[in-house]
Amino acid sequence: GNHQLDKIEKEETTCGFCAVGCRFEMWGEDGDTLGVEPVDDPADAPANDFSTCVKGKFGHEFANSENRLTSPLIRNDDGELEEASWDEALDLVAERLTDIQDERGIDAVGCLASSKGSNEEAYLVQKFARQVLGTKNIDNCARLCHSSTVAALQQTVGFGAMTNRINEDVGEADAYLISGSNTTESHPVLATRIKQNVREGSDLVVFDPRKVDIAEHADHYVRTNPGYDVTWLNGLIRYTIEHDLHDEAFIERNTKNFEELKEKVQAFTPEKVEELAGVSPDDLAEAAETLAEADSVVFGWAMGMTQQSTGTENLLAMADLALVLGQLGKPGAGLSPFRGQNNVQGGGGDMGTLPGSLPGYQDPSDEDVAEKFEAEWGERPPEEPGLTVPEMLAEAHEGNLEGLYVVGENPALSEPDVEHAGEALADLEFLVVQDIFMTETAEHADVILPAATSPEKHGTFTNTERRIQRVRPTAEPPGEARQDWQITQALARRLGYGWNYDHPREIMDEISDLTPIYGGVSYERLEEGDEHGLQWPVPDEDHPGTPYLYDYEEGEFNFPDGKARFVPADGGHPGELPDEDYPLTLTSGRVLYHWHTGQITRRVEGLMSHVGESFVEINPSTADELGVADGEYVRVESRRGEIVVKAQVTDRVGDGTLFIPMHFAAGAVNKLTQETFDPQAGIPEYKISSVRLEPLGRD
Ligand code: SF4
Repeated sequence: GNHQLDKIEKEETTCGFCAVGCRFEMWGEDGDTLGVEPVDDPADAPANDFSTCVKGKFGHEFANSENRLTSPLIRNDDGELEEASWDEALDLVAERLTDIQDERGIDAVGCLASSKGSNEEAYLVQKFARQVLGTKNIDNCARLCHSSTVAALQQTVGFGAMTNRINEDVGEADAYLISGSNTTESHPVLATRIKQNVREGSDLVVFDPRKVDIAEHADHYVRTNPGYDVTWLNGLIRYTIEHDLHDEAFIERNTKNFEELKEKVQAFTPEKVEELAGVSPDDLAEAAETLAEADSVVFGWAMGMTQQSTGTENLLAMADLALVLGQLGKPGAGLSPFRGQNNVQGGGGDMGTLPGSLPGYQDPSDEDVAEKFEAEWGERPPEEPGLTVPEMLAEAHEGNLEGLYVVGENPALSEPDVEHAGEALADLEFLVVQDIFMTETAEHADVILPAATSPEKHGTFTNTERRIQRVRPTAEPPGEARQDWQITQALARRLGYGWNYDHPREIMDEISDLTPIYGGVSYERLEEGDEHGLQWPVPDEDHPGTPYLYDYEEGEFNFPDGKARFVPADGGHPGELPDEDYPLTLTSGRVLYHWHTGQITRRVEGLMSHVGESFVEINPSTADELGVADGEYVRVESRRGEIVVKAQVTDRVGDGTLFIPMHFAAGAVNKLTQETFDPQAGIPEYKISSVRLEPLGRD
């Protein structure tokens, strides 16, 4: 860089890894990051006080990596990537996208925004898609994580977001139901809070096919069969109603459709729950009683619930259970989806980086909304919903989508059936990738634009509890790399739109003008008076923000009549069931030391030294049956492909179930996963695939 920061810098900022949104002071010197330490006043770090996890503490070193992209690259006629000037690269992107749209139509191009960048950057990517390109095809990788959560919560309680706070509610609940969340490894600081509270006497109920660390701390751990979460959740609801454990007054006052729900769950008898979900009648009764006896209950979940072809149904059932128990809108209670990426709530949702959803989840087909955006942008946003991430790749494969602008995403490794995803990326006429490293996706690109990381930028992130927090730089992008908002702005200008933002604070001003739930957010407030962040909805400048959504007494659910809706959920079977050829069920997930497709954490020595390569967990009795020894290499094969990984024999997984982490390119689990999708949310069924396993007899 040009080293404007040639002295030691120290700033309060927000962690760029997970959506707990820990705050700390970051140090930097001569353009590099140096380290982090706790903030002076814990009030400025509402999610974490003084603590951080290993990723927050050491993970920032990735920003100093020698492998950072430092110059724009253009693929030459020989198919090789060559350094180019910014002018050459930006001109080429503008020219090629224009050509494709002229020849193949407006919607022959699409954009993927990032859940890791700031709100301001994500807002600009969707504005670029809708205003500058005029395409309806805008999505982001939140499609792959909590899209089913959002779909279910919007139908039942109104807002597609966590209803409560991390510290005061999740940290203080009287009881927990946690399912499909490896909380300790994925949301470390949050897990610490829960474990502390459990030590002090709260009840922890965990339903999960895998005995993850948080399950080791549970009062009731119940191992479930993968793919049958609606079954046991509806079973819990049935038991609750049958034994008069439901909150009748709350239901009467604040909800609709209770009779329909009651009728629906009748079929979910203890026998059926045992047969399909593998949960015994005793376990079911004990869990139901524990939750009903508690004064306050937090319902926590993550990808284990969402990434199934019944993902939306799973979370409808979860929301129904919370409503039946009246566990919303009061301290210590609530529905708590644990969101993954640092800014998936904001950049992946609130900012409108979704097909058919404008910033603040506003509907582009609503006349007043459309007019408001047209007045600000001079263009009317497309009314129809566009394509999702997997649909864009499918259309690329078919030759109907020819140009793609990918900002900070790695679909080549994150999509299900990656062989197929790689082919689709190769089929694109023109791919432009804006990122910090040479990712598997960037390897397919025609133009690569080098971007900045979170320790290098001004902006805001919105954490899993809807808290909008400031991010500040202590380092500089290396070489020619630029801020993402500047890159998108430069592209817009080349395409004839006079964007003229000087600083992300001006982008936030535009966001708050257009987005009612961010209506009162400004950098002025976040810098003075509201340093601890603001939880949306923040309708206006005088509004203090909303610690928990809804109200136990008044209801105030996000519908015109203020009432929550019971939406009875249907079970069903996973897209692939074990059979003679592929007799084992594979599930996937995270480990503490790594992050997503590993682009960042695989470059940090201190993290690789803990877990340096992929592996497969296998139950001792399955291992015995197949003759697999602990530590030996095995081949795991599905109908899509095969990988070789090291076996870890452990009873963390049940008999017949395997687990492989998702962070590695060698032994990529998504070579095996299947392309079955949730019909409502379009989320792929990463959590369940049928596979077979063969020992290779070497270690
Ligand atoms: Fe960062 Fe999440 Fe760890 Fe907190 S828990 S330090 S936000 S990775």
